[in-house]
Amino acid sequence: MANQRMQAYYDVLHRTPKPISFDGKISEIFGENVFHMEVMREYLPSEAYKSMKKAIHDGTRLDRTMADQVASSMKDWAISKGATHYTHWFQPLTGATAEKHDAFFKPVGPGKAIERFDGDLLVQQEPDASSFPHGGIRNTFEARGYTAWDPSSPAFVIGKTLCIPTIFISYTGEALDYKMPLLRALHEVDSAAVAVCNYFDKNVNKVSATLGWEQEYFLVDKALYNARPDLMMTGRALFGHISAKGQQLDDHYFGSIPERVSAFMRDFETEAIRLGIPVTTRHNEVAPNQFECAPIFEECNLANDHNLLLMDLLEKIARKHDFRVLLHEKPFAGVNGSGKHNNWSLSTNTGVNLLAPGKNPKSNLQFLTFFVNTIKAIHDNSDLLRAAIAGAGNDHRLGANEAPPAIISAFIGSQLTSLLDKIEKNVKAGKMTPEDKTELKLNIGKIPQILLDNTDRNRTSPFAFTGNKFEFRAVGSSANCASAMIVLNTIMAKQLKTFKKEVDARIKKGDGKDEAILKELQKLIKESKKIRFEGNGYGEEWVKEAKKRGLSNLKDTPRALAVWGNKDFVKLFDEMNVLSPRELAARQEIEFENYIMKIQIEARVIGEMVQNFILPAAVNYQNKLMENVKGLIDVLGPKNGKVAAKAQIDVIERVSEHINKMKDLADEMRVARKKANNIADIEKRAIAYCDMVKVHFDAIRYNSDKLELLVDDEEWRLPKFREMLFTR
Ligand code: ADP
Ligand code: MG
Repeated sequence: MANQRMQAYYDVLHRTPKPISFDGKISEIFGENVFHMEVMREYLPSEAYKSMKKAIHDGTRLDRTMADQVASSMKDWAISKGATHYTHWFQPLTGATAEKHDAFFKPVGPGKAIERFDGDLLVQQEPDASSFPHGGIRNTFEARGYTAWDPSSPAFVIGKTLCIPTIFISYTGEALDYKMPLLRALHEVDSAAVAVCNYFDKNVNKVSATLGWEQEYFLVDKALYNARPDLMMTGRALFGHISAKGQQLDDHYFGSIPERVSAFMRDFETEAIRLGIPVTTRHNEVAPNQFECAPIFEECNLANDHNLLLMDLLEKIARKHDFRVLLHEKPFAGVNGSGKHNNWSLSTNTGVNLLAPGKNPKSNLQFLTFFVNTIKAIHDNSDLLRAAIAGAGNDHRLGANEAPPAIISAFIGSQLTSLLDKIEKNVKAGKMTPEDKTELKLNIGKIPQILLDNTDRNRTSPFAFTGNKFEFRAVGSSANCASAMIVLNTIMAKQLKTFKKEVDARIKKGDGKDEAILKELQKLIKESKKIRFEGNGYGEEWVKEAKKRGLSNLKDTPRALAVWGNKDFVKLFDEMNVLSPRELAARQEIEFENYIMKIQIEARVIGEMVQNFILPAAVNYQNKLMENVKGLIDVLGPKNGKVAAKAQIDVIERVSEHINKMKDLADEMRVARKKANNIADIEKRAIAYCDMVKVHFDAIRYNSDKLELLVDDEEWRLPKFREMLFTR
């Protein structure tokens, strides 16, 4: 073979679909690798079972005896599934999940051993965690971190390991992960929402946030992936001219799924189903070789664990099928990137979805209450939501005419808009007449009908109401959903608490309950109006309009992250017991650091590829052309030879031009990187990486992509976009 790329392409062309490992009935294997309530009922003594149920429902702690019993049953169950090891499974701030495996096996004397796992080992562990990000919380002298069991998410077996979902905290009890603050936020929104629900129904004593995520990803054959250092090191193609055909024909979305891909999907879905992840939807996405997987929604903490597990499964199973999965938000410039829609709602122990319109004016007033409060929460904290989805990868997506813009706004549809307008106009200050009330009730009563024919879905809005839930669309495909969910549930909890206080005050002053609620809603509708936008979020006009309205447009990660430092936000998180000022500051530092590292790695890979892949290919080809020109001159004489070699000489000159420009820019970038590295302040360093280092990427790429078009196809060493996007 001429080069690595040719060899890789040859490999791909000769691949056949791998056989799938399970072809039985899916319903029979659902949750079979999960230590869920039904299994617990079977394995646990009844007292322990009851304690577990209570722990899951109320978030209470299990005492030592109960923990021992649960641990022992869990071990027996896991061993019956073939497990030999156990691990505390946690979510450090690296973004990935972490695990350290220990064996059940324990020698107890010469030639003697037992399988051991007790409450201590279940409840708490002390992983050697000094190498996880901690943002200064954990100094080396107190380098210990603890993982602690989260009974609300069931343990599961993967391969030969029992995995126990845990939180990860420092020696001093501060959160070093995503799960801990998520649980705190869910707890806050639970109590705040219950209090508001009790205006309408005294039987409500628990409100759970629900999350239904939709995971987008790309597949690339492993041979092509391995021939691209940029994909391997950074998850995205840092070079590459877009292929002649991209997604213009819109022929991939919902198209038939290729056989090799379909075998892969069947396999990973089977594993997901075994782990109790209710995956139901799969389809092709907009870009070639882009796909999506979505489960039925679940309680938020569980749904998030399931998403993390699924991302892990995608990678593992893809390898078995000779694919690599790309979870990066923008692996290929020029075609769509990948997101992870977070569908979110609140649901009561009485089975009511609080963001679904009800059947009568009373339940509709409840719906309206939660609906309007959500919009107000978004309005007051849009910058926090923006910060929650910030990341180097997502910067390529947000506002890039394919994904929702970096400007946070909410879409609610024309019908609800007109209803909110009516409430804004018709709720009277002072005492309302019976006629006023009837008129309003009539309007509120109409909600269910109007939503049924409310089909005007707006795909360009970052935060859209879709009939019975809000859909947060700006989340990146590689993100831990918790990042967005922590913020969303915290700001909702805060808003509901304020709402309750205000309504109670109005009632105290003599308003009836419904009247007090309506008047407060009217106030919130007025105050939050500017966050509502029904138009095209991708248009230039919206950028101008949003600016006029005073909405932020935080275009890149360093600017977005800066808002974690705002006094009001620091206070909000502290007040809601979700993140202390120290925890928040640590998180901000870690995110800045992550950003810097990612851009730094990309810059290094770009430098290497320019020098070791692109330049040599261009020079080799130029040499070939020069041989040819020399030959023509030899044969035809200098004058005629030059005339005959006109095209070749032109290419030689253009190749030189691009090589020189590319090399100069790469050198400039290196100098800029060195300068940035010398900046002590981490926020300023992140900004320098964004404004001084990253700015070179596109210009360098432009020259390389021109070379790709000029250079002989056989000389080019990096798999091309048409190969990565259209072969499978
Ligand atoms: P799409 O965005 O692809 O058009 P939908 O709008 O139909 O898809 O969204 C479907 C997603 O919304 C599914 O993942 C589903 O589980 C989730 N979903 C539906 N109801 C709720 C709810 N009450 N809470 C959270 N997620 C929900
Ligand atoms: Mg969606």
